Parts: sequence; C-alpha cells; structure tokens
Amino acid sequence: MINADPALIGDLVNANHILYRHGVVDGFGHVSVRDDANPDRFLLARNMAPALVTTTDIMAFSLDGTPENDERQPYLERFIHGSIYRARPDVGAVVHSHAPSVIPFGVVRGVTLRPIYHMSSFLGGPVPVFEIRDAAGDDNDVMVRDVRLGDALATSLGALPAVLMRGHGATIVGSNVRQAVFRAVYTAANAGLQAEAMRLGEVTYLSEYEIARSAVTNAAQADRAWNLWLREAQG
Ligand code: MN
Repeated sequence: MINADPALIGDLVNANHILYRHGVVDGFGHVSVRDDANPDRFLLARNMAPALVTTTDIMAFSLDGTPENDERQPYLERFIHGSIYRARPDVGAVVHSHAPSVIPFGVVRGVTLRPIYHMSSFLGGPVPVFEIRDAAGDDNDVMVRDVRLGDALATSLGALPAVLMRGHGATIVGSNVRQAVFRAVYTAANAGLQAEAMRLGEVTYLSEYEIARSAVTNAAQADRAWNLWLREAQG
C-alpha cells in the first residue's frame, strides 16, 4: 500500500511519459520520486517501458532498493535511486537515462559537458563522469546492480545536479520531479548542441555569471515547460 500523495504519483506517471516523448528514455531508463509521506523510501515503476507506466505500476522501495510488500519485478538499476536519496537529502526526484546525445561526453577523454546555452545553466558543475571500473573492476557489465555501485555513483554525483556514466548514460536529480525532468530534457539537448558546436569550431560557453543569473531566471519558469510537455504527452 502506497500512502504517498496521489498528486505526486500523478506527476511521476506523467514524468515517465514526458521523458519518453522527449527521447530522454526509450524502452529503457527510469524516473523516481522520494515518497513525501516517508522520506526513507522512494517510488518507482515496476520493470517496464516508461511510456506505458500507469499509477498501478508504481512500487515503493526502501533506500537500499528493497521493494516494500511487492512481488512484481523491479528495475535492475533501482540502486541508482536509493543511494542518491540516501546521500542527498535535498533530492526529491531522480532520472536515469541512456539518451544517445550524452553518450559521447562520457567516453571521450578531455571533453566535458558544459552549459552551452541558458536552458542548461544547471550543468555548470561541470558534469562529472562516473567510471564504473573504478568501483566494480574491469570485469563488469556496466550496470549499477547493487547498493555498493549505487553508492559509488552517488559519490561521483556529489552535490551536483547531473553525472554522466561512461559507456552507459546519465543520472540527473532535482528537488522535485518537475525540476528533474526539466534538467534531464535540457541535459540531452545541451549535449546535442555542444557536440554540434564543437564540430564547427571553438566554443564560447556560458560564463560563471551567466550560469548563476540564468539559473535564477529559469527557476521562476519551472511549470511553463512542464505544462506544455504534459499536454503533448497526453495528446
Ligand atoms: Mn541504465
């Protein structure tokens, strides 16, 4: 039995559909929220394609990734979510994706994903890359399949909004699910645009001041994109 606010579960279902609409997830990838009624657990769909998720597919998990009174098959990489919620009390939602545009930035040495325009100013960290071989050794299957690897990923993320995963994808967090979705969509967009710009020549990135100021402006517009994307996803 899930006691979370039905509006939170509704946002989580909608987030699954929006992320699919924007190509951030396909048959794979997932999005979770922290349970507002119990911060020591999180909500995540059962193992299925995000575009097909409905409210009855949502499961509850403790932060070590154990399903709560639920026999359905969970996502293998649910540990990504639990470890980040444990390490980051400020995080209310987590998106894990294999968005194609971000993959090159995780595998090419010396190239860093950075904010190329104001919509992705939150990437001003700059974005770290998680090397799973450092935690799992050379003989690994690239999957974050247990708490130890989830904790290693959370360490790479640190206090930032996004971490790339070498040869795998990215994990993006937000204080709530709408912010996490916004960031996941614009992380993928930034990666595509940055790769395109780098092919053309030397790139001028946002300055530290531009990063800080545009982040403030974007924060005041959070629901604007969500409301549009929701209607698209429902239409
Ligand atoms: Mn994955």
